[in-house]
Amino acid sequence: MAERIECVVIGAGVVGLAIARRLALQGREVVILEAENAFGTHASSRNSEVIHAGIYYANGSLKARLCVAGKQALYRYCEEHDVKHRRIGKLIVAADEAQIAGLKKYQTQAEVNGVTDLKFLDSRELRDLEPEVACVAGVVSPSTGIIDSHGLMLSYLGEAERHGASLALSSPVVSGKVEDGGIALDVGGAEPMSLKCDIVVNSAGLNAQAVARSIAGVPPRTVPPTFYAIGHYYTLAGTAPFRRLIYPVARQDWLGVHVTIDLGGQVKFGPDFSWIDRVDYRFDVSREAAFYTAIRYYYPGLKDGALQPGYTGIRPRITGPRGPAQDFVIHGPREHGVAGLVNLYGIESPGLTASLAIADHVATLLQT
Ligand SMILES: Cc1cc2nc3c(=O)[nH]c(=O)nc-3n(C[C@H](O)[C@H](O)[C@H](O)COP(=O)(O)OP(=O)(O)OC[C@H]3O[C@@H](n4cnc5c(N)ncnc54)[C@H](O)[C@@H]3O)c2cc1C
Repeated sequence: MAERIECVVIGAGVVGLAIARRLALQGREVVILEAENAFGTHASSRNSEVIHAGIYYANGSLKARLCVAGKQALYRYCEEHDVKHRRIGKLIVAADEAQIAGLKKYQTQAEVNGVTDLKFLDSRELRDLEPEVACVAGVVSPSTGIIDSHGLMLSYLGEAERHGASLALSSPVVSGKVEDGGIALDVGGAEPMSLKCDIVVNSAGLNAQAVARSIAGVPPRTVPPTFYAIGHYYTLAGTAPFRRLIYPVARQDWLGVHVTIDLGGQVKFGPDFSWIDRVDYRFDVSREAAFYTAIRYYYPGLKDGALQPGYTGIRPRITGPRGPAQDFVIHGPREHGVAGLVNLYGIESPGLTASLAIADHVATLLQT
């Protein structure tokens, strides 16, 4: 006999945990199924830990809406729940005159998205703020910040558990089936089990498409293709030469090799961007020369030997090389026709920032 559970959230990353918390706060019975033996070991612990302002995303996109709403909710949440964070601000810098048009575009797009506090700065003003940064102009984003992503996940999980949710580790969902009156899930691991659920939220990150495809009754045409793009981070030895996050003008696919500073003061450069065909976090040290070149465009003082290999993260993508810019894709019953099921695809950046707003969005989809 399959055990009956009201809600199952598949995946204990920051987004899955935010959703589990949200559903538990509604008084629902929630079980979080996580394939690994710890929570948050994939994208949620392999990212830049930046609270994004919401500058870049296309008009009306889910990324734009959920980032801006999520940022506000996240700052409030961090204050109320003592999650470590700092609103340190970010500079986007133009290395030459040709890139200034890019800065102006950001300012316009940010305003459309509801981010109205960007300020244009000339090179002298920028030198006063960040003497080590070489640039001809820039914009400052005061609402960008940094966060302890592990602390945030612990807080979401703790609150969910205090409202009755439970986390089952080493419990991969291996298949499922849409049945009359619910969704059946088969869970592998050391103690395989079958569950019958009223609600299933597939928040399996890099694996979300595979999980959706493994549930019989989910129309395959609604499941987007899967692509992966790896990013490497190098760390900087010694004390931080910057006080804010520094970003170059973005490339087509990603934000460029930027500077982040974590709450311990460690400076990281990255992530870079390249397509890979499977999930493999190994660090490719041959990228070092390209990092030195990219960073010296805006930080000419970078000394030889100062970079140390850090870590990698992998972006879950639904569009491949030369594909259009991707938005978050969050499918509820209206898209796939299965009552009680929500599938989340392509939850790359700014998913950490947007986590609380994504959770609200999922809760709304489940009400309809
Ligand atoms: C390089 C990089 C930099 C980023 N920087 C930022 C940033 O600075 N700011 C920001 O806002 N966002 C950033 N992001 C995005 C952010 O990290 C992600 O959007 C967020 O972590 C996604 O959380 P998640 O819970 O959807 O996925 P994940 O954290 O990947 O969690 C998915 C979970 O599902 C589990 N799972 C998979 N398959 C199964 C299964 N069959 N059964 C059970 N469990 C399963 C996995 O083990 C995993 O724990 C970045 C992402 C990357 C890759």
